[in-house]
Amino acid sequence: MYDGGVSSRRTTRLAPSPTGALHLGNARTFLLNWLLARQRGWRVLFRMEDLDGPRVKAGADQQAVDNLCWLGLDWDGPVTRQSDRGEAYQQALRELIDAGWAYPCTCSRQDIEQSSSAPHVEDGVAVYPGTCRSRWDSPQQAREATGRPVAWRARVTDRPISFDDAFAGRQTYNLSRTCGDFVVLKNDGLAAYQLAVVVDDAATGVDAIVRGADLLESTARQLHLRRRLGLDGEVTYWHLPLVIGEDGRRLAKRHGDTRLATYIEAGVPRQRVLGLLAWWSGQIDQPREISLDDLLSRFDAAAIPHEPVVFTTADNRWLRGVD
Ligand code: GLU
Ligand code: ZN
Repeated sequence: MYDGGVSSRRTTRLAPSPTGALHLGNARTFLLNWLLARQRGWRVLFRMEDLDGPRVKAGADQQAVDNLCWLGLDWDGPVTRQSDRGEAYQQALRELIDAGWAYPCTCSRQDIEQSSSAPHVEDGVAVYPGTCRSRWDSPQQAREATGRPVAWRARVTDRPISFDDAFAGRQTYNLSRTCGDFVVLKNDGLAAYQLAVVVDDAATGVDAIVRGADLLESTARQLHLRRRLGLDGEVTYWHLPLVIGEDGRRLAKRHGDTRLATYIEAGVPRQRVLGLLAWWSGQIDQPREISLDDLLSRFDAAAIPHEPVVFTTADNRWLRGVD
């Protein structure tokens, strides 16, 4: 039975962002999430993370649902949408503000980039230098003084945040060095990913989160917000390695068209797609067609490799049946 709120069952969620079509890398993460859940009897929710206004692509939300159904995945209860949850995010923001953990910010990306004191972490994103920490008495004042729309940032501390990832092992981040005070409400009035995820996971009793290793640092931000909001339930995280191209970079458009929808349109059978994803996940020792039932019955989480998976031209040829 679906219960939109908390449940005594372990609960996970499939949470696609409809900012583009699902590619084979996303599909693999969702498949592994589903296999873990169904093998262990977890409840599976489906949440559409459709908050990223300008980047949300028309039709991509329905396509994500259709693609995951095509793979054979299912979930318990209706698809929920973050775009319907604005009030809950505002409420959480008010709690952060009242407790002194959030403040208004009018800095543009350029201001932050140009701030000479802003160190740059590896992916080129500047650490927010805290310019607006004690700069404004109110969002009105910030808006009037700068003529700019106001975002809200959560304060971080200079203390390490650690967690034990069930797949990736012990992790430690110091947010003052990796990102600095980070945005929780964007200047278009929409909740930022970090806040929305924390509020929704808590409201629906999510306690098992399976996602790509690119979100490890986000987990530290989310744990920080959970603590500030007094959400202290235990969550188990599984951060799985990404699928990369032969050039070592994360699977993306530059690697050609790896959208699931494209393979579906080309008539590639579902069992073949599942076969490649299963092989990438250490579940079979060479690519071959496999049914979802067969994959579920033999699924062994311990066999998932810890290194990134490389999507090769040979894989693509096999998938398309051109060998
Ligand atoms: N919506 C995110 C994505 O598709 C996943 C967020 C999460 O699992 O917390 O990358
Ligand atoms: Zn600022």
